[in-house]
Amino acid sequence: MESDPKTFTVMAEHIKTISPENSISKNIINTALNSGFDDCGICKAEFLEEDKKYYLNWLKQNFHADMSFLENYLETRFNPELLFPEAKSVVVVLKNYYTQSGLNDKNLFISKYALGKDYHAIIKSQLKNVLNSIRNTYPEINGRVYVDTAPVFERSNAVKAGLGFTGNNKCLINPRLGSFVFIGELVLDTELDYNKAYTDSCKDCKLCIKACPTGALSKKGLDANKCISYHTIENRNKIPQKIQIKITNQIFGCDICQNVCPYNSNLKEHNEPDFMINKEIQEISLEKLENITDTDFENKLKDTVLLRAGRKKLIDNIKIVMKNVSVK
Ligand code: SF4
Ligand code: SF4
Repeated sequence: MESDPKTFTVMAEHIKTISPENSISKNIINTALNSGFDDCGICKAEFLEEDKKYYLNWLKQNFHADMSFLENYLETRFNPELLFPEAKSVVVVLKNYYTQSGLNDKNLFISKYALGKDYHAIIKSQLKNVLNSIRNTYPEINGRVYVDTAPVFERSNAVKAGLGFTGNNKCLINPRLGSFVFIGELVLDTELDYNKAYTDSCKDCKLCIKACPTGALSKKGLDANKCISYHTIENRNKIPQKIQIKITNQIFGCDICQNVCPYNSNLKEHNEPDFMINKEIQEISLEKLENITDTDFENKLKDTVLLRAGRKKLIDNIKIVMKNVSVK
C-alpha cells in the first residue's frame, strides 16, 4: 500500500530555527504573520545554482511548450543580487488561498487560485505593508517586494526558508497549509538569522503522477505540452485533440494534481475577502462571453487573472468542455 507521506512529516514549526537572540528576524516573521500572511521564513539571498541547472535541463527538454518568456532573464531568475545588488536576505511569505469551491454557477471549473481578485496586487500590497512596518522599527533596512513579477525563483527560496518542499506535482508543499498557497518575497539588504532548509519530500507517494489525466507529471518534471493548465490558459494555438478529450469541466487551469495530494486534505479555508469568487467569474457562460465585446470582457474581469486567457480562449475552452461533459 502506498504510504501517506503526511504520517511521517512533522509540522513546519519544528524547523523554525530562528534563534531567540536575533530579535530582528523574530520581529520580521511576527510582522509578516500579523499582516495577513499564513507562514513566513527567512533564507540567505544567494545564487541558486542547483535550481538553475534543473531549470535549464527542463527548458532543454522543451517542457515549457511555447512559453518562450520562460527563457528570459535566465541569470537574474536565480541570482537575487542581479535584481537588487544589496540583497542579503529573502523573507518568504505564504498566503493560503484554499477553498473547497472551484465551480461557478454553470458547473464550469476555474482553478482555485483564479477565483478571486488577481493575487499579485493583493500580496504585493500586503508585503509593502510588512516592509513599511519593518522600516518603521528599523529605518536602516531597505528592501524590494516580489510576487511572480520579477524573475526570482520563489519556490526554491521557500524551501530554503524552511516553508516546505517541492512535491512531485511541482508545487511547494507546506506540511500545515498544503499547496494552495501564494508565495511572496521581500528581499532585504540586511544579514539576518536564517531558517533551516526543509528536507522532507514526497517519499514513495506518487498519487499526483497517477492522477494526472494527461500524463504530464513524471520524475523528470512537469511537461507543459501535456498539461491542461497550460493548454487552457497559455496555449495560443488549437488544443491538441488528445488533450481536448481529457478536459472535463476545466475552462481555466486544473487542480487535479493538488486535489489528490494528502497534504491538501482537511485544509482550512482562506479568510481573505479578496479571494472570494468574483461575481463575473461566478456567472461566466458561453452565452455571456459570446454576447460581450473584448473591451467589456476586459472591463468586467480586469481585476482577475482570467484576463490572461482572454474572452476568445475562454469561449473555445467552454466549447471543448461542452463536448465532453454537460454543463448547466
Ligand atoms: S495541472 Fe492537471 S494536467 Fe497539469 S500536471 Fe496537474 S493534473 Fe496534470
Ligand atoms: S500527491 Fe504528489 S505532491 Fe502530494 S505527496 Fe504525493 S507525490 Fe507528493
